[in-house]
Amino acid sequence: MQKEVVIIGSGIAGMSCAIYLIRAGIKPLIIEKDVPGGQLHKANSIENYPGFDKISGPDLAFNIYNQVKKLDVEYLFDEVVDIKKEKNIIIKTRKEQIETKYLVIATGRAPRKLNLEHEEELIGKGISYCALCDGNLYKNKDVVVIGGGNSAILDAIYLASICHKVTIIHRRNNLRAETKLTLDLEKYDNVDIIYNNQVTDYIIENGKLAKVKLKDNTTINADGVFIAIGYEPIANMLKLDSDNNYIIVDSKMHTSIDNVYAIGDAIKKDIYQLITASNEGVICAVDIINKTKNL
Ligand code: NAP
Repeated sequence: MQKEVVIIGSGIAGMSCAIYLIRAGIKPLIIEKDVPGGQLHKANSIENYPGFDKISGPDLAFNIYNQVKKLDVEYLFDEVVDIKKEKNIIIKTRKEQIETKYLVIATGRAPRKLNLEHEEELIGKGISYCALCDGNLYKNKDVVVIGGGNSAILDAIYLASICHKVTIIHRRNNLRAETKLTLDLEKYDNVDIIYNNQVTDYIIENGKLAKVKLKDNTTINADGVFIAIGYEPIANMLKLDSDNNYIIVDSKMHTSIDNVYAIGDAIKKDIYQLITASNEGVICAVDIINKTKNL
């Protein structure tokens, strides 16, 4: 299959890029291995995206996806397994081989794991990286949230509304999350925060996660543990220049390889927000539009 522009990843960055390209007469192909929306599906409530006082992540993802589909953007739901730069760029998915002139990498990042013993086997059976997806399994139960950033506090707020008790465990003595979120958290009286401590072990009783053990040897009841300690970018198949696996781009979203762009949470930057990801999608689209029109 031959395409002018391929966008890998259908989070807010990839979809914003597609909207601007198609409105300029360039029909991109979006390749997505999961559901459109990316990290939006993990956000219970978004209150800092202009135009919405408050909207759930999945609702915003669905709104943007509908907008993209109405503009007739083509989708391939498949996983990319290889990318090569020859004269053009060759992308192999499980089902197709696609040749494209321009490639936009908008693959985002995945939740960072704590990598403690038993973590892998407990995923879905006590350990989760997504409160919105799995919180309901722990209704009226005791849960632990690990982390002190925006994700951890948003998870704790959501879980406090459905669980019996939420204990946040943070390795420092102050939260990194924004003030509005910490004030929202204070409204719940079933939340405890333990500072300057870290989970060292998951304690399994009767085949189920029952407690976590902390660095100071105390234990906390935990029917579920939600790990919200940041994210890691997803594999860099083209070996683009990167810093800690985050792809390095210039002000127009160019990577170290000609005609390969990167946008959204996959890139090295200061601010990881929906609005910055969307902005990067637009900057990249305009650069591609200008190049195709020889401007
Ligand atoms: P983050 O801001 O990087 O915070 C990660 C938290 O986990 C930090 O408190 C960190 O501790 C802790 N941590 C990291 N590794 C750890 C480990 N091995 N053991 C224990 N604790 C560990 O990550 P995030 O909260 O997922 O947010 C990621 C980005 O997305 C941020 O830029 C954030 O602003 C943005 N975001 C924004 C919103 C919003 O605007 N509403 C919502 C979600 C995310 P230290 O503090 O000690 O480093």
